[in-house]
Amino acid sequence: MSIDTLPPLRQVIETHALAAKKSLGQNFLLDLNLTAKIARLSGRNEDHDVLEIGPGPGGLTRGLLAEGARHVLAIEKDARCLPALAEIEAAYPGRLTVMQGDALDIDPLAHLRPPIRVAANLPYNVGTELLVRWLTPKDWPPFWDSLTLMFQREVAQRITAQPGSKAYGRLAILAQWRTEARIVLNLPPEAFSPPPKVSSAVVHLAALPEPRFPADAKMLQHVTATAFNQRRKMLRSSLKGLAPDIEDHLRAADIKPTDRAEQIDVERFCALVRSLSA
Ligand code: SAM
Repeated sequence: MSIDTLPPLRQVIETHALAAKKSLGQNFLLDLNLTAKIARLSGRNEDHDVLEIGPGPGGLTRGLLAEGARHVLAIEKDARCLPALAEIEAAYPGRLTVMQGDALDIDPLAHLRPPIRVAANLPYNVGTELLVRWLTPKDWPPFWDSLTLMFQREVAQRITAQPGSKAYGRLAILAQWRTEARIVLNLPPEAFSPPPKVSSAVVHLAALPEPRFPADAKMLQHVTATAFNQRRKMLRSSLKGLAPDIEDHLRAADIKPTDRAEQIDVERFCALVRSLSA
């Protein structure tokens, strides 16, 4: 597939006076080779609908469509971007639907046909909240096959962190319990306009058909949130509110009561949840 014949993104931004707003986390990708690359990292989408959050002037949207996505549903909060997105809609008849509004309030499912993938250069202020929502649906498998998401590099590292590292915590456990999560691309600030203060990374999360280890999802969220709230404390102390005999539960899960949360892998957190739920 080749890059489309629409005007260059710098020109689109000028024509539609899309001066970036910090409050909306607007750091735009203007290199269409790069947005096509990110689109390819989300997979071959000829047979998939793709949900994109925050298309902005449409760099990634164009990448997704040019690379062959069956259909893209793009949700954008900033009404100023709509005319630019309408030009893309016209260039790819029937393959792009744009909804204006806050992605935190809109349920996109009525507008998507499975199988579905999510691809986005996320606004930093809502990125983690959206990710946690996508990782914690009522039922598993979720509505999406995979998430290909741009984050600040520090957030990407928290998602893919291994036990024993500073970045390891609730987000790593939520992500790695039911997905295969890896960083697939690192980007310097200069890749964006305007450049943000920090580096970015694209994370690819592929949904596993089933969780790696059995555990009640709500309970796992509760236990990990409690454990990492006081990550410097020993687990017998940070988790003592969960059960009077917490030390027995910890031992049943092969965890030393003196261990700290960041030493415990996903498997043992799941074992702890099973013991507490028994
Ligand atoms: N996808 C474009 C790109 O890669 O150049 C823009 C990415 S920019 C980091 C984030 C985009 O998300 C902006 O266009 C911003 O207006 C939009 N946005 C911010 N908050 C949003 C929200 N709550 N719901 C939907 N879109 C939002």
